[in-house]
Amino acid sequence: MGRQVVVTGAASGIGSAVRDLLRRRGDEVIGVDLHDVEVVADLSTREGRRAAADAVLGRAGGVVDAVVACAGTASPTEAAIKINYFGVVELLDLLRPGLVRAERPRAAVISSISSIQPYDAEVVAACATRDEERAVALAEKAVGEGRGQQLYASSKLALARWVRRTCVTSEWAGEEIPLNAVAPGVVVTPMTAALLATEGGRELVDRAVPMPLNGHAPPEAVAHALIWLVGPENTHMTGQVVFVDGGADATLRGEDSF
Ligand code: NAD
Repeated sequence: MGRQVVVTGAASGIGSAVRDLLRRRGDEVIGVDLHDVEVVADLSTREGRRAAADAVLGRAGGVVDAVVACAGTASPTEAAIKINYFGVVELLDLLRPGLVRAERPRAAVISSISSIQPYDAEVVAACATRDEERAVALAEKAVGEGRGQQLYASSKLALARWVRRTCVTSEWAGEEIPLNAVAPGVVVTPMTAALLATEGGRELVDRAVPMPLNGHAPPEAVAHALIWLVGPENTHMTGQVVFVDGGADATLRGEDSF
């Protein structure tokens, strides 16, 4: 029997690939995004996250088998912190009661190869204490000082650390909910289209994210990994940040980091 799976960012890119693959195997997908989905909501705000969770739980009859949180932005502004970190962790907290009611609940989120790039330590620390006002104020300061480029990496590192910290708690492991992340390299989606459209852009990207195995990935490459992580087959993998990156992490960090 199909499961009820919530996919954020389902209108585009990786989220859209996850939605299509899940539907093809008979699952019911409740998409959450800014447009073209079952639940239209803005995950950058507390009210938007609350409205999204209420609408999802209403549609799902209170039972959510899995959540795949793909919505995100590459904006070098405080929006990256609001959407990529708080938009993920707060929504997952709000949907957790629905997961607890499911027979084999699972959750997965998307970090990034950028999580190993330079970041703003103060912003990451504010995220860890779940202080959104402070994290956003620090992010706005970073933008003002020309350090906005670090905010995407900061949001994705904070998210990976949240997964590590949270997965083993009584609320997640204690409720038998595996919680993992994938960390993609460069994926060909609308998010990277402008950058990959020029030779200069491609050179820049390939220097920062070398992908010796098969190069830039189609969204399905990441979607398949996410689908396994939230599938019933995954009974014991939790707290992992799985790099789906054509070997970028292994190239950049080598054998000492695993
Ligand atoms: P995308 O731009 O194709 O899709 C992102 C989706 O998120 C869009 O449908 C967008 O409308 C939605 N979204 C953005 N802001 C939102 C908001 N405030 N509320 C609700 N929905 C919102 O991008 P993608 O490449 O598919 O990215 C998916 C995830 O993968 C993101 O978290 C991204 O950071 C991550 N990622 C992407 C790459 C890549 O190379 N494309 C690499 C590493 C990580």
